[in-house]
Amino acid sequence: MRKPILIGNWKMNGSLQANQALMVRVLPRLRMFRKSIDLAVCPPFPYLFQVRDLLGYTGIMLGAQNASAFVSGAYTGEVSATMLQEMGCRYALVGHSERRALFGESNQEVAARYRSVQSVGLTPVLCVGETLEERESDQTALVIEQQLQAVIDEVGLTAMASGIVAYEPVWAIGTGRTATPEQVSAVHQQIRRFFARSAPEAAEDISQTVRIIYGGSVKAGNAYELFSLADVDGGLIGGASLHADEFGTIAGAL
Ligand code: PGA
Repeated sequence: MRKPILIGNWKMNGSLQANQALMVRVLPRLRMFRKSIDLAVCPPFPYLFQVRDLLGYTGIMLGAQNASAFVSGAYTGEVSATMLQEMGCRYALVGHSERRALFGESNQEVAARYRSVQSVGLTPVLCVGETLEERESDQTALVIEQQLQAVIDEVGLTAMASGIVAYEPVWAIGTGRTATPEQVSAVHQQIRRFFARSAPEAAEDISQTVRIIYGGSVKAGNAYELFSLADVDGGLIGGASLHADEFGTIAGAL
C-alpha cells in the first residue's frame, strides 16, 4: 500500500565531473527498480540543473537538500521552493539534523520550510531524530514528537499524510553506527502511534498511509535487514549514495 522510496542525499559533495561519472554508473543500476520503488537523488543546489539533465527520462527523480521558508525577496543565500520546482525537483529535504545542529534551524523554522515546499507541490521529506544524549536520557519519543508537532501546528496533520518522514537518529548519521532493527522498528511504530493519537478521527488513514523511511549509515550490508521491517518504507542514504554499486545494492534491498 505504501510505495517504498529511496533517496540519495549527496550533502555537500560532488563536482560537474564527479556527478557525471556517478550518474553514468548508477543509473543503469537503478533503472530496473524504478517501477516498484520511487527513487530520487538530492545534489547540492548548483548541480540540480546538471543532474536533472543526466536523469532525463529515467523516471528517477530530483530532490533538493533544503528549501527556504520565504517565497522571494531579500534573503541572501536562500533558495525558494518555486526555484526548486522550476529546476525539476519533486522532493525537498527539510530539517536534516545537520541543518538543525550546524545551522541552528529550529522546529518552527523547519516547519515553515516544510510549508513552503508543500505549497508549491513538492513533497517534503521531514527529517526527525534524537541525539545520543537524548536517547540515553530516554527523550527519544519526546524529541521526535516535538519535531513532528511543530509541523502539525504549521500545516495540519492531514497535509502531513502526503509528505514523507525520515527517521534519522543523529548518532547514526555518517558515523558508521546503524540503529538496530529493534530500535528502528520501535521509533517508526511510535511515530505512527503519535499520528494516530493526534487525530483519532483520521487516525487509521494518516498513521497507516504516511511513508516513514530510515536514514543513518545505511549500507549494502545492513539494508536488507532494515528494509524488511514492516514499518520502514525506504531509506535516506548519505555516504553510500555516492557509490554506484552500493547505492544499487541498497535499491535492490527495498
Ligand atoms: P549517512 O547519512 O547515510 O551518511 O549516515 C544519512 C543522512 O544524513 O541523510
